[in-house]
Amino acid sequence: MLTNRAWKLAARPQGAFKPEDFQWVEEPLPDLADGQALVRVVYLSLDPTNRGWANATATYLPPIPLGSVMRGFGLGIVEASRHAALRPGDYVQGMLGWQAYSVTDAAAVTRFERQPGIPLDAYPAVFSYIGATAYFGLLDIGRPKKGETIVVSGAAGAVGSLAGQIGKILGCRVVGIAGSDDKCRWLTGELGFDAAINYKREPILRRLRQHCPNGIDVYFENVGGEILDAVLALINERARIALCGLISQYNESVPPPGPRFFGNLLIKRARIEGFIILDYATRFPEAFAALGKWYLQGLLRYRTDIVDGLEHAPIAVNRLFDGANTGKLLVRVSDDAVS
Ligand code: NDP
Repeated sequence: MLTNRAWKLAARPQGAFKPEDFQWVEEPLPDLADGQALVRVVYLSLDPTNRGWANATATYLPPIPLGSVMRGFGLGIVEASRHAALRPGDYVQGMLGWQAYSVTDAAAVTRFERQPGIPLDAYPAVFSYIGATAYFGLLDIGRPKKGETIVVSGAAGAVGSLAGQIGKILGCRVVGIAGSDDKCRWLTGELGFDAAINYKREPILRRLRQHCPNGIDVYFENVGGEILDAVLALINERARIALCGLISQYNESVPPPGPRFFGNLLIKRARIEGFIILDYATRFPEAFAALGKWYLQGLLRYRTDIVDGLEHAPIAVNRLFDGANTGKLLVRVSDDAVS
């Protein structure tokens, strides 16, 4: 009988996640019921939204019950199956949880074929809700036109780095905002952004004015707070703001006061629209086809920040909040060899 290793949510976090918010358990795996599969987790994805899921109040998903395995997206390999659609050796992605093995309904995970030329870590980093968020958030909500100016915050993260590159592929001017000089160099060097601003060191509004001489047409918002405030000061008429995330507020128990230039939405007849990528689930293949083509043409790059070992997940998740990660933060839970 296989023994599972898992992190359960032990307490509702106050502020940032702390190790005591989680409990490490080792327990035997249950037998498979009809319709279920046993999946060995290879990559666990750590995401800013994990923090909201751990609260007592619902977000777009119900709160994680205390004492249950921490919810998390992951990529894994099927080891055993009692459903005709899955066979041992198949690759799947889905909500596998913070654990070494997941006993899951086969219908709850998505099977995929590996494509030649695409490394395995590109699947959670690009060909998942991450790439889809960048793709639909920018195209469907931001609706950029060639020659327009796009600003992306959280620009060196998983979603932001892809959104900015898609903006360049579409022929826009793209300005990224990120939290270190190294990240900014990566954006303007390897990824081809037109400019990047280190918000921890530079005056954001002044730099945005310099780098966006024609104002801002599209803002891909991952952060909120002071950065949103500065962007709102410079939006053009009919600007579109794709409200993807507000990571600067996820560890706060009291929301900060609203942005000073909110009135510009009215004056400029601009539009701000929030979106949750789950609503686009049926259209993911459309995003993956475009992202795959661009990746194989060398137009789109990704980076993964991989922490080895499930035992490190509770500490590693805070890399998202102190900005230690560049690109997609993953935990390698087991090796990717198909047995
Ligand atoms: P990232 O890989 O971008 O990691 C988070 C990054 O946010 C960090 O690297 C850090 O970079 C930055 N950050 C953290 N705290 C702050 C702060 N206080 N101020 C400014 N920047 C900060 O994560 P993802 O790409 O997975 O997610 C990016 C955003 O997209 C999040 O807000 C997330 O919630 C959202 N999202 C929304 C989805 C949807 O359906 N709407 C789906 C997926 C993600 P730095 O060094 O630059 O500070």
